[in-house]
Amino acid sequence: MTSNTLPFEQLVLASGNPGKLRELQAMLGEQVKVRPQSEFVAEEAVENGLSFVENAIIKARHACLASGLPALADDSGLAVDALGGAPGIYSARYAGSGGDAANNRKLLDALDGLPTEQRNARFISVLVLMLHAEDPTPIICEGIWHGRILTEPRGEQGFGYDPLFWVPEANCASAELSPAEKNRLSHRAKAMAQLRVRLGIEPSR
Ligand code: IMP
Repeated sequence: MTSNTLPFEQLVLASGNPGKLRELQAMLGEQVKVRPQSEFVAEEAVENGLSFVENAIIKARHACLASGLPALADDSGLAVDALGGAPGIYSARYAGSGGDAANNRKLLDALDGLPTEQRNARFISVLVLMLHAEDPTPIICEGIWHGRILTEPRGEQGFGYDPLFWVPEANCASAELSPAEKNRLSHRAKAMAQLRVRLGIEPSR
């Protein structure tokens, strides 16, 4: 498949998370017209799957149903080795409804006193593209970004756990990366690179 033969000219981004929306929109560039799901979806999908893949499919299907358009969903999160992979699929609501600041506080408390070598973690992003709500062969791409959890927040960029995520290859926290640099290195960038290959989209410049 080449960029001229994409089976769609526009798609819905099945996310209400402004941080993800910003990043995915920047990565997709202008080659596909991206429409936010807020144009179509009255209520968010109920994410009751037990894995990133299940939840991404649920979100993509929900957006397809509401819009009648192809949909791209990202289900993502942080898996911390010392916590047996938590918060995992519950990353957005790790500390209940308190949002990013409460999630980060809870994570710091959970790892309190743990030495650097026991603070390994990874971000995971599963991207699912469905052409329609009953698409039996969703395209599924996964990106993983390895790092470790800091003992205090650093940086102002990004969203979610970015201020606590140390990026070894950049020698800084994820929230200290410029948006362009994060979009080159992140779990989401890695999943998107696979999706581009699957769709035959040229890399954005
Ligand atoms: P979802 O919207 O259910 O997929 O939840 C994703 C959650 O995982 C976000 O709310 C963040 O807490 C966390 N997360 C995912 N990707 C990132 C990232 O790139 N930086 C920081 N936190 C992230």
